[in-house]
Amino acid sequence: MSQLKRILVTGGAGFLGSHLCERLVDAGHDVICLDNFFTSQKANIERLLDFHNFEFIRHDITMPIWLEVDEIYNLACPAAPGHYQYNPIKTTKTSVMGAINVLGMAKRCRARVLQASTSEVYGDPVVHPQTEDYRGNVNPIGPRACYDEGKRVAETLFMDYHRSNKVDIKIVRIFNTYGPRMHPYDGRVVSNFIRQAIAGEPITLYGDGSQTRSFCYRDDLVEAMIRMMNSEPEFIGPVNIGNPHEFTIRQLAELVVKHTGAKSTFINKPLPEDDPLQRQPNISLAKAKLGWEPKVELEEGLKATIDYFRNIDMSHYRPPTPNHD
Ligand code: NAD
Ligand code: UDP
Repeated sequence: MSQLKRILVTGGAGFLGSHLCERLVDAGHDVICLDNFFTSQKANIERLLDFHNFEFIRHDITMPIWLEVDEIYNLACPAAPGHYQYNPIKTTKTSVMGAINVLGMAKRCRARVLQASTSEVYGDPVVHPQTEDYRGNVNPIGPRACYDEGKRVAETLFMDYHRSNKVDIKIVRIFNTYGPRMHPYDGRVVSNFIRQAIAGEPITLYGDGSQTRSFCYRDDLVEAMIRMMNSEPEFIGPVNIGNPHEFTIRQLAELVVKHTGAKSTFINKPLPEDDPLQRQPNISLAKAKLGWEPKVELEEGLKATIDYFRNIDMSHYRPPTPNHD
């Protein structure tokens, strides 16, 4: 087994964070999960609370915090459009002040710090598939900017702390990821479609459904994040992490109908402003540097996610109306 470490996961109670915490706890590391439960539920980390090597801290990452750690995974940030647009100013603060706080901690502790960045730094991309050297096409004043630009500034801060203060950093750019423990009302396409299909409600295609996304299964994604954290110090990224298999949103809807056996019809709703028309990661760099590529294809991952949604009590979850500053 590799050397055991003290690891902080910000946003550790969320969809990806809670799975990452599980992987790290199971590997024997001393894990601190920090979260303010803005978009997550305690149930996500319930199983972990019994482990001696797991600790939870309820804290807002926009505020400084003093901890002693060897590694930091910085995931704290609402990720679904409906969640990050609920309080857009807070979203930008979370990305920017959160980055400053974890980078300051990493500098003081000489810890390695990984930023969960996003394919949204490419905006509505005119280069397809997207490679890491593409500088993107983001609207800085649109409704997605609080997330996209916040994540872009976070990358800037990571690079400047690295160049100016020699902080040991890693940046991963995550493309659409789905799987068990997604919030059923987060408004993202996979959760919306599965929830609607299970309830026998019409499936909401925004626009004509011809826009594309490439969907990565949660377990593949978390494996890549851990590999990136443990990669050679000289490789700092940014590196694209995602599944390059691209689908139209209509194709996704058809697969959800097939695997739920639903009788749902499709209805069209307006395409949200600045909704990217296409998205597909070029993952050559991840393959070369991390020896990683996704293993779980969409149909298999969808089946696992549908099973999960069938077995949770959705009345415990609500659409995003949290009362946060
Ligand atoms: P999520 O909403 O389930 O997880 C985010 C977690 O951060 C939640 O537990 C939330 O409560 C917490 N959080 C939010 N603001 C906080 C704050 N100010 N202080 C402390 N905690 C806070 O979303 P996710 O899909 O698990 O995303 C995790 C990370 O991965 C995010 O940074 C997101 O931007 C990034 N990412 C995810 C995807 C994806 O498709 N899932 C794609 C690109 C990037
Ligand atoms: N989408 C849709 N119906 C829904 C929810 C989303 O057609 O009920 C579309 C949305 O317009 C976008 C795509 O699905 O083109 C992915 O949306 P999501 O919010 O999951 O992620 P993002 O746009 O951030 O990639």
